[in-house]
Amino acid sequence: MAEYTPEQLDLLLALQDTDSRIRRLEHQRETLPEQQQLEQAEARIDEIVRQQDDLRLDLDKASAEQRQLERETDVLTERRDAERLRLYDGTVTNAREMKSVEAEVESTNRRISEQEDLLLESLEQVEGLEARIAALEAEATAERERAAELTVARDEAAQSILAELAEAGVLRDQQAAELPDDLMERYDAVVRRTGGVAVGLLESNTCTACRIGLSMADVGDLLAGPPLTTCPECRRLLVVPA
Ligand SMILES: [Zn+2]
Repeated sequence: MAEYTPEQLDLLLALQDTDSRIRRLEHQRETLPEQQQLEQAEARIDEIVRQQDDLRLDLDKASAEQRQLERETDVLTERRDAERLRLYDGTVTNAREMKSVEAEVESTNRRISEQEDLLLESLEQVEGLEARIAALEAEATAERERAAELTVARDEAAQSILAELAEAGVLRDQQAAELPDDLMERYDAVVRRTGGVAVGLLESNTCTACRIGLSMADVGDLLAGPPLTTCPECRRLLVVPA
């Protein structure tokens, strides 16, 4: 196993710090609170649009019903007016016939009155639906404004993270270029295995990568061994300070 200088091992630990920082930044970028809030706002907007579509179908039905009731009421009103006219235009002279026409007028008036009650209910239903659609529209407008603000905030936050990531990437390249190739190969191999931290430092009796306390015997062996070895617990690279 090649021996490395203390400077190279310090640089290896610094590279590890940089990579950990890059991973934290990437995680931050993926889980920005603004992004999550934005997704919630967009989901609410979709929900409102669906509710409005349903209400508009109900409104179409209620409006058609209203128009039908209006047409029926008009027909009844015309009939009633025609019946009334017969009472006064002299066509009905016979008292019995007169009474029968009067009864017809009364009966038609009752039906008109019933029809008008139904029409009023129908109008109230239409107005209620229109009010609910308008309230949802107001909510959608507010939610769309919020989504626009969150998009700006998300992009700003992402931008500062991207700037930090670019800076860390430059530093990472410098550090990697200064390390011996075989050491980088060993480092990269552990990264591929763990998907994360590849090197720890022995601090008192603990590996900083896995945080598992080592036995006195293990620590004794490590201190007597090379400055770069493998953690007996997590098998990552372990820097043993002189
Ligand atoms: Zn360890």
